[in-house]
Parts: sequence; structure tokens; C-alpha cells
Amino acid sequence: MNKAIGVSPGIAIGRAYVLTSSEQHIPERTMRDADLTEELDRVVAGIHQSRSELESIRSDIRELIGEEEAGIFNAHLAILEDPIFLNEVREIMKLRSIGAEQAVQQATDKFANMFELLDDDYMRERADDIRDVGNRLLKHLLGDTGVLLPEMPADEPYILVSKEVTPSGFVNLGPHNLLGIVTAMGGKTSHTAIMARAMGIPMVSGLDTRLQRTIQSGDLLIVDGDAGLIWVNPDGGLVEEYQHRIEKLEEERHSLQEIISYPPVTQDGRRLEILANISSLSELDRSIEEGVPGVGLFRTEFLFMDRSSVPGEEEQYEIYREAVEKHRGNPLVFRALDIGGDKAISYIALPEEENPSLGLRAVRILLTRKDLFRIQLRAILRAGAHGPIRLLLPMVGSLEELREAKAVIQDVKQELQDEGIAHDPAIPVGMMIEVPAAAMLADLFAREVDFFSIGTNDLVQYVLAVDRMNEAVAALYEPYHPAVLRLIRSTTQAAQQAGIPVGVCGELAGDPFALPIWLGLGVHEISMSVQSCLPVKKALIGCSAERCEAALLAALGCSTAAEVREQLSLAWEEA
Ligand code: PEP
Ligand code: MG
Repeated sequence: MNKAIGVSPGIAIGRAYVLTSSEQHIPERTMRDADLTEELDRVVAGIHQSRSELESIRSDIRELIGEEEAGIFNAHLAILEDPIFLNEVREIMKLRSIGAEQAVQQATDKFANMFELLDDDYMRERADDIRDVGNRLLKHLLGDTGVLLPEMPADEPYILVSKEVTPSGFVNLGPHNLLGIVTAMGGKTSHTAIMARAMGIPMVSGLDTRLQRTIQSGDLLIVDGDAGLIWVNPDGGLVEEYQHRIEKLEEERHSLQEIISYPPVTQDGRRLEILANISSLSELDRSIEEGVPGVGLFRTEFLFMDRSSVPGEEEQYEIYREAVEKHRGNPLVFRALDIGGDKAISYIALPEEENPSLGLRAVRILLTRKDLFRIQLRAILRAGAHGPIRLLLPMVGSLEELREAKAVIQDVKQELQDEGIAHDPAIPVGMMIEVPAAAMLADLFAREVDFFSIGTNDLVQYVLAVDRMNEAVAALYEPYHPAVLRLIRSTTQAAQQAGIPVGVCGELAGDPFALPIWLGLGVHEISMSVQSCLPVKKALIGCSAERCEAALLAALGCSTAAEVREQLSLAWEEA
């Protein structure tokens, strides 16, 4: 058994197909200065061909999977058309008197290596994108019209094993017959992982390259995307065990469909709204299909990723309006752009930071880049003319910040009013409670906003001083820490005293075990990834609010996370 990181959940059992990285033969040619122009023309022609190919892949993916995933190819187009790349190729050819193919390969290696050295998972994963674009261009220069990857097994389903799988390599493979993916490189934020999740293909990354090399094509594999495990040539007993697990998972998923129409109410009649967290319109479609009655958090920053420029007001307005129309009056909370930290946007220049989670993030950026904030506000407010929506401000830490952001909102409303443009002048404005200072001053903030949404992901990180992205301190990232619990309680109390609703949108909301906290504290709504909505609803309708209240009261008196968990577990014991 090999342990790695599960980046797309589910279990796959099947034969390995091992992909050695595309071994293309690059001709070594010596060039004369007189050939330079002609050779450069070939590169430019290759760029044109690659562009049309990428554009057609992008439109296929848009139709097949969704807008967010199609956006990956905007990033590829941006790399392809970056003049710095072409310049580098020209310089290499001139300096080393070599042919276009070798020069393209060397320029690709240079830029990809630069990204690989960066101390940021997201940026490191962009190296895959650069190599992918370089390979595509090489394919055209070499006159190879086939796919970049060797032939896949024609009819037999397989598990792909490769050092890395680039997003367009993934597209070239096609989801047909692809049971699972195992890679050495890549992480949860890699685009390939995003696409694998979107298509329900289990994937495990981070497998030691030495181990990966020991896997042969034809080996039987079990890929456990939940636990991040890979079994090579497992014995029959284990295969049977995993087959049972697959059947059980399918049965569970199927049986959950029954509760779609049930109200989200406990056995003793307490209601708790269960909403979705989404980051694209395709996820919204999926949440509607799953019968989720609203969106508690639309992470709008994902609409800004994998493109080469800021989406304009009209483009944003169209997306937000479509979401409002699809939602037909159900709750819909748009969070203003929450970038910075781990969420970098290539075309929005942000300073290099030693400590990005404590740096220029979220509302701090919105207030320094009011141009971006105002465009987004105009688009959201205009979408509000088509149905009820709410606006959520990320990472507010002081009243000054809140007041400044509200002043901008007021000003933009006035501007729309003066221009006679339809919008929602009474949009409820809420704030994330994810900075400890905001939780501590929740009573003061509650007088100045229309609702709170507790972001436990960041709240835990900041209260416990534990980087949520750093695997070395992952064991210290403890959402059930009594300090976290106290801040959640003081926030909900402040909201109740001020008479404003309070929701929870961090990952903790998707953990059914945490339900006694929300029921015990009187939270109005919780929101989570779409896949978690039905399992959490199932737990909710099976529990008693009264028992949850008692368990929470006991948990609030605890001094360690282990004790908190023990007390909360009592809520689940049979009466
Ligand atoms: C949170 O911090 O809990 C949250 C929901 O926001 P994000 O995960 O996008 O930072
Ligand atoms: Mg957050």
C-alpha cells in the first residue's frame, strides 16, 4: 500500500496504464543567421495552430463540463501569446544557433523551472500549464498531428499512472474509459484535480516518484481517492473488500436521493437551512440538480481565475444575472472578490509577500483596488434587479474597513441610480466572520451589517495561528478547539442580540458531526460543498435539537478539543 494525497474522492479498481512523459524526438539542427526569420515564422505559425486548437478544446470543455474548467484554457492561451515567450525563443535561436524545436523546448524548460522553484503550490502547478503549452507548440513544429500522448488502450477501462497529467493531456485522453488517475506531481489545487473532481474521477497525487516507477502497465491497482491510498496488485480479498465499498458508496449515494424533498428539520421540529457553496455556474447547476435550495456562498473569485484579464462589468453581470434567474428567488449570497493569500490571480499584480495569509487579501485588496471592487459591485447590484440576492464582504477585521467598504457600496448604488440603471438599492450586506478581531467585536459589527457568515476555514487558521495550507502543521488545525468554539458562540450571541441572521460557510459546516454546534447555538443556515449537502441533511433529520443543545452546553465547558468531541458525540447516542 502506498500513501499519497487524495485530490479527487471515490474508489477506482482497474489495470494501470503507465504513461512515460511524452518522449518526442527533437531534431538537433545548427542554424545560420540568415535562416532566423524563416525559423521564427515557423514558430509563429505553430502558435497560430496551437491557438485554434486550444480555442476549440475550450469550447468543447465549456459544453462538456462547464465554464470554470474551460477557463483553464484561457490560461494556456495567455501563456502561448505572451510576447516574453516568443522573445525568449528568438534570443535562444540567435544566441545558440539552434533550430526552432530545440529553442521552444529550452524556453519552455526555463519558464517552467522558474515556476517550479516558487514557494507557492498554485504557482508551482502553473509550471504544468507552461509545459503543456510548450508540448503543444512542439507538436505543431514537429508536424505531428496526433495526440501528444501515446495511444490509450482502445476499449479497456484503465487507471492512468504518470509523473504528471496536464489539463490538456487530460482532455486529449478524454474521460472515456478513464477509471482513475495516479500522479507524482500536483495537488488539490491543480487544474487536473479540479477537472477530475468535476467529472467524478478518483485521483491520488504526490506518490513518491520511485514508487511510481515501480508500477507497470497492466498491474492491477486500487485507487482510494478518499484516503489517498494506492494498492498495487492487491490480493483478491482486498479487491473484494473495495468492491463492496464501491457498491456501498453507490447505494448510499442512491439512498440519499430519497431525502431530497424532505424539509431540513430535526426529529423534534427544529429547522436549519442547508445551502451550497459554489464557485461557478456549472456548480450551481449541479446544486440545483441535487435539490439544494440555495447558495450560502458564491466564491466569485474563481470567475477571475484562469483568464488573462479582469472580466468586465457586462461579463460579470451576465454570469450573476444567470445565477439569479436559475435560482428563482432562492437564497443566493455573492461574496465580493476574495483574492490574495493562496488565491492568486496572474493578471492582478500583488506584491511578493513573506506571509500571504496575513498580507494583502480580500477586503484589503478591494479597498486598495477600488476600481475592481466598483466594477464587481455594479455587476452584482444590477443582477439584484432580477431577484433577491445578498452581498458578503470577505475578511473584514475592523469597523473602519467595514465602513469604508459600505461607503463604496453606497456610492456605486448612487452612481447606478444617477445613470438610471436598474439595480437592487436595498441589497442586504453581510460580512464574513473569519478574523478573530471581527468575532471578538461581533456585537459592534452586528449593528452595522445585515447578516454574518462564519468562515471557519480562516477563523481556525487565524485563531490557532496554524496555516491552513501547510501540511507540516495540519495536525494542529483543529476546528473543535475550545477557543474556536467560544468565538463562534460569541458571534452567534451578538447576532441574536442585534436580531440579524447568522450562517456558517466554512468546511466545518459540511461535517455532520458539527451539527450540534449549529443547532445548539441557533445558527440559521449552514452552507457547504454540494456533495456534502445530502449527507449533512440526513444527519440533521435523524437528530434531536434538544440533545444537541445539551451536548453543546457540555462542550462549551471543555478545555480541550478531545473533550469537546467527546461531549458532542453524546448528541448522537441513542436516547
Ligand atoms: C472560510 O474561510 O471559511 C471561507 C468559507 O472562505 P474561503 O475558504 O474561501 O477562504
Ligand atoms: Mg475565508
